[in-house]
Amino acid sequence: MATTPALELINIHKTFGDVEVLKGISLKAYDGDVISILGSSGSGKSTFLRCINLLENPTQGQMIFNGSELDLVRGDVDLVPNNMKQLTQMRQKIGFVFQSFNLWPHMTILQNIVEGPLHVLKRPKHEVMAYAEHLLEKVGIAEKKHMYPNQLSGGQQQRVAIARTLAMDPQVILFDEPTSALDPELVGEVLGVMRNLADEGRTMLIVTHEMNFAREVSSDVVFLHQGKVEEKGTPEEVFGSPKSERCKAFISSVF
Ligand code: ADP
Ligand code: MG
Repeated sequence: MATTPALELINIHKTFGDVEVLKGISLKAYDGDVISILGSSGSGKSTFLRCINLLENPTQGQMIFNGSELDLVRGDVDLVPNNMKQLTQMRQKIGFVFQSFNLWPHMTILQNIVEGPLHVLKRPKHEVMAYAEHLLEKVGIAEKKHMYPNQLSGGQQQRVAIARTLAMDPQVILFDEPTSALDPELVGEVLGVMRNLADEGRTMLIVTHEMNFAREVSSDVVFLHQGKVEEKGTPEEVFGSPKSERCKAFISSVF
């Protein structure tokens, strides 16, 4: 195993107004880790994921990406990036899949996928097109490539969103409840794609309420409660014999 984590978060705090939502969260993800983040609504899961790629600025803490610390300085309240080039590089290496898909509605499925690689990464068009076709095959959407997002089901849109993230060649992918907005019959197709990514050795941090999925695919499980890590361990430990009463209660409530 690599000795340097792909991603290391140290003592991340986040305050909104005078409410401290994250109270010092630390986490390490090595290449190939699949870390599921569990916790009840309002425990800070989304805020934590959003802090990782600076969609939210943390109020305190350190972030280290492949051994290089992100250069953060104190702004008015929060820590803000001090080096835009470093931030851009880091963001390109960390993909984000949202609960609400966030595809560009005015672009076709194919355009959604090639936009970033063509215009941000400035890769050659023939290469980008070939890779996009490959990714659409992989997520099972190849025949819909000329359609627009609103012509697809939620499950199909989320699979496109995953392909779009993969097109940027991320080292780490963050998923924030990727199946929560889906009708129950569409959840499985998205979890199937994610399971394949885990089997390929992709590094992923997944906020989810899909406990069976988390139990089967995760290398590690983290349970958040009120902005702190209440329990962490292997899936066997956290699901099989949780130590904290809160974690026990949460798991028995969702299974
Ligand atoms: P989770 O994803 O675990 O449900 P969140 O990270 O979304 O939790 O939210 C944690 C807490 O932070 C909640 O109490 C929420 O209301 C609060 N919060 C989240 N975003 C903001 C914001 N932009 N401004 C103020 N409060 C926020
Ligand atoms: Mg959330």
